[in-house]
Amino acid sequence: MTWHVAEEDLRGYARGELAPPLLWSADSHLVACAECRARLADVSDPVALDAGWERLDAELDAPRPGLFERLLVRFGVADHTARLLAATPILRRSWLLAVVSVLFMSVLMVHTAHTPGLFLGLAPLLPLIGVALSYGPGIDPTYEMAVVAPLHGFRLLMIRTAAVLAAALVLCGLASLALPDYGLRALAWLLPALALTGIGIALMPRLGPVFAPVLTGGAWIGFLIAAQQATEGTPAPFTAPGQAVTAVVALAAAALVRRLRDRFDSSSAHTPFAGFGPGGAV
Ligand SMILES: [Zn+2]
Repeated sequence: MTWHVAEEDLRGYARGELAPPLLWSADSHLVACAECRARLADVSDPVALDAGWERLDAELDAPRPGLFERLLVRFGVADHTARLLAATPILRRSWLLAVVSVLFMSVLMVHTAHTPGLFLGLAPLLPLIGVALSYGPGIDPTYEMAVVAPLHGFRLLMIRTAAVLAAALVLCGLASLALPDYGLRALAWLLPALALTGIGIALMPRLGPVFAPVLTGGAWIGFLIAAQQATEGTPAPFTAPGQAVTAVVALAAAALVRRLRDRFDSSSAHTPFAGFGPGGAV
């Protein structure tokens, strides 16, 4: 490795003032280069940063990459992105197992109760829960990366969300295949899943990384129960007009997340997102 981040850029990075594309190359380089991380620590507030990198180093310098990470690299994903994805909690075996068992049980109940309602109601919650679980100290090793490199905020969130969505959507899709009797209706969870994930993320800058998804998920469950009581047949979100409305909501939420992107990045030194740090809301 011959190129290193210039001293001046490191100072800008530490202050949270480095702009793209310099920021992106500094981001990628810092993940791979211990020397520049050490230099970054020198030019930044020493105490908090050192502790952050130490914990991150322990995770990043794991003796050898796991199978998933090696697969990603083989498929052309950049080293540092592969490592970030592999360290995403939802992609760890325990979370995947949890998602698989929830889906397995709900598919089983569809077959015994002869209504896809429970499956369609639960499946959209899985990516939302995954995004919520991807944040916060104690759960997330790459949380340190967001702490150390504050400007990672939005990009990190998008990489993680894409990983969580991909995993959850593939698994829910497979579960839908186990419900051939319901045809396309077994896929009616997809748009609600995207809408709930979008709303959950859009509320994060205001409500925090835990309360926003909890509130979104709770509202979804409450709405479904109300819809179930209002009509005998298919709950509103899973009818054709309901799906159209859900699609619009999903797009609106995505646009809102895009508009709020600055709120996820922070120029203050040690909080991953503006407005909410390790402590949670506000
Ligand atoms: Zn370097």
